[in-house]
Amino acid sequence: MKALKNAIETRGHFINDEVLKVDAFLNHQIDCSLVDEMGNEFYEHFKNKGITKVVTIESSGIAPAYATAIRLNVPLIFIKKTQPSTMIDPAFAEVFSFTKNKTYPICIEKEYLKKGDKVLFIDDFLANGEAFKGTENLIAQAQAEIVGVGMVIEKAFQKGHAYITEKGYDLLALASIAGVKNKKITWADE
Ligand code: 5GP
Repeated sequence: MKALKNAIETRGHFINDEVLKVDAFLNHQIDCSLVDEMGNEFYEHFKNKGITKVVTIESSGIAPAYATAIRLNVPLIFIKKTQPSTMIDPAFAEVFSFTKNKTYPICIEKEYLKKGDKVLFIDDFLANGEAFKGTENLIAQAQAEIVGVGMVIEKAFQKGHAYITEKGYDLLALASIAGVKNKKITWADE
């Protein structure tokens, strides 16, 4: 997605050769029209997959997941990182965080994801695929099915891309970074 790649190059920066900061338009301040365009790209790619739920993990996946779910006209579920007191019957999994270097639990209210649901998972970043694996676990517990994976930005040089594609999932990354050297990006499609 050209506008996203342009935003990464002009408004984002690598704080080292692995971690990209995009707080200016995605992770802190949100560029709503850019995120809206992301929703459109995901919608166009996944619209014929029979999706019944869009799933993300709080918090930075919510905006692009919302922009996609509203077009697909299906509910959006955001997996929580802390169990609220209002949650009645949760399912749990664990995720190792690449940026925080620690494992944390994730949870979902069981009633929102059911056997037969066809899930599109959307997230802001794909690095080592740990958030995806935790989600995969929750979706398996619900006996639902992942029919698509949409990542706003993937760093294809980390492990997540290979994990997801080797398992045969339909993965769409709107901006795919093949490598970074001295903070200079090489795009996978150029
Ligand atoms: P993974 O679970 O694929 O290892 O990492 C994905 C999660 O870690 C994303 O949801 C995101 O929150 C965070 N993350 C991974 N890499 C980056 C990065 O380069 N920049 C930012 N801002 N977050 C990242």
